[in-house]
Amino acid sequence: MRIVALAGGVGGAKFAAGLQADLPPGALTVIVNTGDDFEHWGLPICPDIDTVLYGLAGVDNPQTGWGRAAESWAVLTEMERLGAERWFRLGDKDLALHLRRSQWLRQSLSLTEVTDRLRRILGVPSRILPMSDDPVRTLVHTDEGDLPFQEYFVRRRCEPTFLSLTYIGAASATLSPEVAEAFRTAAQIIICPSNPYLSVDPILSVPGLRDLARESPASVVAISPIVGGQAVKGPAAKMMREMGASVSPLTVVDHFADLLDGFVIDEQDSALAEAVLLPTLVTDTIMTDLPSKRRLAEEVLRFNQGLQTVE
Ligand code: GDP
Repeated sequence: MRIVALAGGVGGAKFAAGLQADLPPGALTVIVNTGDDFEHWGLPICPDIDTVLYGLAGVDNPQTGWGRAAESWAVLTEMERLGAERWFRLGDKDLALHLRRSQWLRQSLSLTEVTDRLRRILGVPSRILPMSDDPVRTLVHTDEGDLPFQEYFVRRRCEPTFLSLTYIGAASATLSPEVAEAFRTAAQIIICPSNPYLSVDPILSVPGLRDLARESPASVVAISPIVGGQAVKGPAAKMMREMGASVSPLTVVDHFADLLDGFVIDEQDSALAEAVLLPTLVTDTIMTDLPSKRRLAEEVLRFNQGLQTVE
């Protein structure tokens, strides 16, 4: 049974870790947003791939939601002394991974190949696939002008009012054979509780990918990242407000309406279940530790499996 999950960083990595814990080794393929990727200190950084990689390897830092557990900061401290910018914090172990990635990319390996090497070295049994090997960069149009994603998200802490997004490079990005194959062999497709606009839409913007998901015989479910009228973390709710949408799981289900066969909402939002107009699983979707991630994954897999037998 092959399961394909679409994921951004924090919410995506937490749910993917639950799926991995519940599935046989090798059954899970996570297709990850690369719209947040950028260059820092001359190194290519892939924040969402790394959050998924560290989360699935169990070496993530659950306090920050990014970077490694048990991290040290010798290089950052010295870089600061040398006058380098430090708004984007890179720990020593994290930095070693970026150096290795950079070496391999310069040897002309694709990002897909590099990511596969890294996940094997870190002992991750699941496949982690960048959404494309071609660069796609999320540009945030705000009331203070256009900001590259990391400038908006990290340096400006999402403070400027959000207007819209452009996924630069998306129109000419190609689907990798590995991503296409993952969709062709998928028994289930799951959209993780990731930011719909900043994490999932860039993935769906890769030409051909949305059609693969839509046309796949595998049923597609999404888990709401909006719980009790708020985002569990990050700017999803703020962005919805600034777009004039209501901060609600219903905004998420509308957003993915052409793709979904089922939807998962939190028990805090159970009153909204009837308004979803799709088969809906209502459960506790707050993931705080591996057992809660695994329990949610198990329930979502069972729910999605049930949708296929009905069809
Ligand atoms: P980012 O790229 O690091 O912002 O990560 P994602 O886009 O994957 O995840 C951010 C989204 O995950 C936010 O919209 C959060 O509301 C959502 N999220 C984080 N933790 C949880 C959780 O435990 N449960 C649910 N339902 N959503 C979560």
